[in-house]
Formats: sequence, structure tokens, C-alpha cells
Amino acid sequence: MIFELLPSSLFYLLFATLTGASVGSFINVVVWRFPRNESIIAPSSHCPKCNVNLLWYENIPVFSWIFQKGRCIHCGAEISVKYLVVEITTSLLFLACCYANPVNFDNLSIVVLIAGWLYISILLSLAILDLDHFWLPSSICNFGIISGILFSGIIGFIQIDLSPFLLIFQHTLAAICGFLFFRLLAFVGYRIFSRPAIGDGDGFLSALLGSWLGIYGLAISLWLSIYLAGLFTISGMMLGKIKPGQVIPFGPFLAIAGMAVWIFGNDMWLNILLLNFIV
Ligand SMILES: [Zn+2]
Repeated sequence: MIFELLPSSLFYLLFATLTGASVGSFINVVVWRFPRNESIIAPSSHCPKCNVNLLWYENIPVFSWIFQKGRCIHCGAEISVKYLVVEITTSLLFLACCYANPVNFDNLSIVVLIAGWLYISILLSLAILDLDHFWLPSSICNFGIISGILFSGIIGFIQIDLSPFLLIFQHTLAAICGFLFFRLLAFVGYRIFSRPAIGDGDGFLSALLGSWLGIYGLAISLWLSIYLAGLFTISGMMLGKIKPGQVIPFGPFLAIAGMAVWIFGNDMWLNILLLNFIV
């Protein structure tokens, strides 16, 4: 079948790694320019300090940063290690998508692979924007929600054993539930603290997870995100890195949980969740 691929094929793994690094480079552009209201397509990449347009060999993901030792070759300005980290992370996540086990879809289809890449890229961009600016742009969230529902339909259409309409229905419903869950949390939070405790963006991001993961995947990723955020906050406070009352963006935890559920599937997390209840 043309929609199937062998995840162990070296060519695909290399292709996934290189594509991931290039998309990571694009994500770096998006998260830099989007908050500054700059166009994502034009002008071409330039150094923010000396404004010189980057040459082709300064634009090679991962390698350029390493060979230039994290500095602009024109003015010597430092290039944040964040660029390198984002490119390597995207590369590894794209590779992991080759072995992903998204519960509602067949994990061997090339369409699922591309869908996973898009999903991971959107989540990564949102996580970085929330970390840097406490901002989950609704335009990116909405794009993510629509593409999640659209891909559910396409994947359902391609795979004989799945009904596209049922999948679209399930994933739309999950998106609505994801959004309403945070509306409810926001309402309860407002009643308790008398001030907005949860940003609107978290609701949109939660809807995005629902549109890609379905209702069970959404429930598991919400649990996982709360768990991760709790763990992070407690250990941060114990180490003295987080002060009481400090605002911590929740988006990155939702994004990490959403990626983890896509890559490892529902069952593994469900077992861990049940184990937690028993112990
Ligand atoms: Zn420069």
C-alpha cells in the first residue's frame, strides 16, 4: 500500500531527522517574528544585531550554529543556544513520530507521519511562545484545531477500518470538551481567587489536543499535564527556583503531554495513571 512505510527503513529515519531540523529552524523564525508582528516569509533570515542577510551556509540547521560556535560571523553577536536546542528537539521529535502510536490512527501510514509532524510543530511553537511571552496565539491554536479535525477525516477516509465521519465527530466533540473543561476551571478559579487564574489560551490549546487525540487521549494528556506542572512547581519551590505566587505558563505542560500521548499512545500512560492510583 502506498500509504505505508517501514519505520525501520534508514532512508525514512534520515529523512525524518533532516526534515525535523529544518522545520525546527522554521519554528525558530516563527516564534521570533510572530510576537513582533513581522512576516514569517519575508525578509529572508538576517542577524537581528547587524541586520546582514545570512548566507546559505549560515542557515544550515544545527551545523551552522556549531561551526560558528554560536556567534554571527559578520558582527560576532552571540546566537542563543535556544536555536540549537529547538532544532535538535524538533529533529528528535520528528524521528520519534516514525514510531508514534496515536491511538485512533494506524501508526504505519505516511499520512499519519506527516500529520504527527504538523501536530508536533504546532505544539512546539505554542510551548515556546507561552514560555517566552505567556501567550498562546488563538490564530495558531485555531489552525491547529482545524488541521486536527481535518486530518482525522483524511486518515479515516484512507484507512478502510475507520469511518471518517465518526472520527471527525469524535475529534470535534473532544475539542469542544477540551475547551469547556478549561472554561469550567477558569470559572471555578475565578470564584475561588477572585481574579483570572487560567488564561483563555489554555482552553484553545486543550481544544487543539482534543481535535488530534480524541476524547480519551485528551483526558490522559490533561491528567499528565497537571501532574507534570505539579511536579515541576513542587521541585522548583524546593530548589528555591520558583517563588510562591510566581506565575508559570501552563501551555508548555499541555504541549509536552499532548506530544507524549501522540508518540507513546494512550495505553502506556493509562497504565502509569492506574499504577499511581493503586500505589
Ligand atoms: Zn550579526
